[in-house]
Amino acid sequence: MAQAHPDLHHDSDARREAANVLSRALNGARDLVADWMASERDWPRLAGPGCAQEPAAPRSESEPVPAPVCRRTGLRAGDLVRVWPYDGDVEVVAGTEADGERTWVILRDRGAVPSARVMLAAYQCPACGRCAGPAVEHPLLRPCPDCLADLRALERRPGETRRVRSAIEARAEAGLAEARALRDERLAQRAESRRRWARSLRRAGPDDLRSALLSAFTHAFDRWTAPV
Ligand SMILES: [Zn+2]
Repeated sequence: MAQAHPDLHHDSDARREAANVLSRALNGARDLVADWMASERDWPRLAGPGCAQEPAAPRSESEPVPAPVCRRTGLRAGDLVRVWPYDGDVEVVAGTEADGERTWVILRDRGAVPSARVMLAAYQCPACGRCAGPAVEHPLLRPCPDCLADLRALERRPGETRRVRSAIEARAEAGLAEARALRDERLAQRAESRRRWARSLRRAGPDDLRSALLSAFTHAFDRWTAPV
């Protein structure tokens, strides 16, 4: 945190955005470890070179018909997720429900869980390259929740264009790191190509940049919501 604090990286938008992503990840990791210790569970087995690998979770064979996207969570029925502490089996989303301040994700085999305890799994975002394990044969290609939020922000507030480009580059960087940790070459290639694309837009004029971003987002979104 001492090195990654966003206050230390005012010199460039890309560095600050990367520092934001890293700080959030570090805070999330600290919370996860604290929750884990409080739950008194055994520590998970290590993954990585030299360690026994868990078999990859099989992806559901029955491809669901696309369902409406929940605006609060960016999830829709059929999405694959993992529930806190994110080391268990991949589960299938049946829907979401809002209850005042809280949003619940309804899982096919488990029932309702708070949305804050659910993370997308086995997917990659075609707009920014962000991805999540476990490594499966056919990861779901779908926009990540951050890209969905950025698409809405761009449509309403053109002033956010530069921030959105930096955020995409940072997410591509995170996606590349995740893909390498999963040792999944296809995920890594897509994340790398999204990073190249985001970098190529660094010097684009504001109008060109906005239309390039909007078209990438809407392309990813349309393909995802198109009927199978
Ligand atoms: Zn994304």
